[in-house]
Amino acid sequence: MVGKLLVVGFGPGSFEHITKRAQEAIQESDCVIGYKTYVELIQDLLIDQEIISTGMSEEVTRAQAAVRLAEEGKKVAVISSGDAGVYGMAGLIYEVLIEKGWTEEKGVDVEVIPGISAINSCASLLGAPVMHDACTISLSDHLTPWKLIEKRIDAAAQADFVIALYNPKSGRRTRQIVEAQKILLKYRSPDTPVGLVKSAYRDREKVILTNLSEMLEHDIGMLTTVVIGNSSTFLYDNKMITPRGYQRKYTLHTTEQRLRPHERLRHENEPWALHQGKEDNVTNKQEKIAIAEKPRESTLSIATEALERVRMQTEETKADDTKPIAPVQQQIESIFELAVSPGIVNKKFTPVQMMTLAEVVGDKGSMEYTPHHQIILSIPTTDPDVITKKLTEVGFILNPVGDVFQLKACDFCEGEKKDSIPYAEELHKKLGGIELPKELKLGFNGCGMACYGAVNDDIGIVFRKGKFDLFLGAKTVGRTAHPGQAVAEGIEPDKIVETIEKIIYEYKEKGHPNERFFKYFKRVQEVQGFKYKDIAPKIELEPAPCGD
Ligand code: SAH
Repeated sequence: MVGKLLVVGFGPGSFEHITKRAQEAIQESDCVIGYKTYVELIQDLLIDQEIISTGMSEEVTRAQAAVRLAEEGKKVAVISSGDAGVYGMAGLIYEVLIEKGWTEEKGVDVEVIPGISAINSCASLLGAPVMHDACTISLSDHLTPWKLIEKRIDAAAQADFVIALYNPKSGRRTRQIVEAQKILLKYRSPDTPVGLVKSAYRDREKVILTNLSEMLEHDIGMLTTVVIGNSSTFLYDNKMITPRGYQRKYTLHTTEQRLRPHERLRHENEPWALHQGKEDNVTNKQEKIAIAEKPRESTLSIATEALERVRMQTEETKADDTKPIAPVQQQIESIFELAVSPGIVNKKFTPVQMMTLAEVVGDKGSMEYTPHHQIILSIPTTDPDVITKKLTEVGFILNPVGDVFQLKACDFCEGEKKDSIPYAEELHKKLGGIELPKELKLGFNGCGMACYGAVNDDIGIVFRKGKFDLFLGAKTVGRTAHPGQAVAEGIEPDKIVETIEKIIYEYKEKGHPNERFFKYFKRVQEVQGFKYKDIAPKIELEPAPCGD
């Protein structure tokens, strides 16, 4: 009879979180070896197995006993909480086997069965705190020198890892967590979110959300995992969340906008990324070949150079020992994008406004003049509010950019034809900046001349003889561009705002993501009672992808 070692991680402690294979393995075994609390946790799974339960610190004894029984021909389940390969029994079992000259070919069978480790079970109860690069550090210095643990906490803190601290504290080990907090505070803000999870998925489960400076005011024990956020982790509605990336684009009033796939890794959107180097951009075939054929440096010369660099660096740091290390409170800048205009009606900038623009945009930002009565600012910043405050103080109107509603009014003949201005202002107030399936411009012209081209915007309204004409569904770009359809003439002024609002909210609710208004109109054939007519010119044009 050939014996077998089944090294089983049974997860956090609840029955539902034990994997199927772990349950089977426990049930097919002849005997079960584990710390007694754990054997109790899984006792409902046991049939008639021999049970060998030992105390907490008798792990080596347990591993030796397991190996011996397997060598006698038994199927032995060695159980660990969480995952057996994470501060569990798997490594010890292999160490004992190796000492006895075990090989896979000749020795007993070994199967390591994975389980849900505390970092995962605890994270699930906290929200989504791990999410990004993370590490686990055990604060137990029974088997590891404290100096080394300190070094790892320091490195992880400095490198902005999310950190799960295992074995944070026990009856006798109380100082480790205090020291760990001190090290973390060297690099991270005292407000850094921290989650304390005790007995995840067990009877006395307790979840606490706190922060780095206050975490020690709460109960931390042997059954707690301490999850330290990174510099972008935040708390929201009793959840601890680490975003997937560091930097995104922001615009006014909305939270982060997701970058579309084609916007990713562009310098203007993600300036922190490692952008393509020169060699990657070589298009000339000859040059490419030249690079490919460049003689490879010998491995020895590369290694010698690397060693030399390390030596120089070590010397530099030695000389620099007194210099404090910069904290990693990554106030990572986000690209704040917004649109500014001097007014709905007013198209004139003042010198003070121009100077303020220059000041807030600075060296790192950019200003883009667009055909849509506004300038788009793109500014790397950690504090968008400072920028919006300065801009509004000098009378700018600020708008979000992206897939939002924008009102493009004319200048009402420099304010001379002012009767319809209040309607333009009301529309801007009610709808300006709301998010839509796709960007939408509403052209608003104050007389029948419609010289600002309202009929060529997604939706156009023209004030004429005291009433409004309405145009829907212009195709604003492309070689098959066309104006909107005149769907109504003479809409009463007291009805216009309401009519537009209904159209916009219908499109917001029912438009597909990325579907321009003219496409939506064509698809549904009727918007708020206004019927679609196929008036688009029938010209067959070869498709022309951008840039061709
Ligand atoms: N092999 C286990 C870890 C064993 S070390 C695993 O993969 O999860 C023991 C430490 O794990 C405890 O001190 C605690 O920090 C953590 N831990 C294990 N189970 C836990 C649970 N149910 N809830 C919270 N922390 C737990």
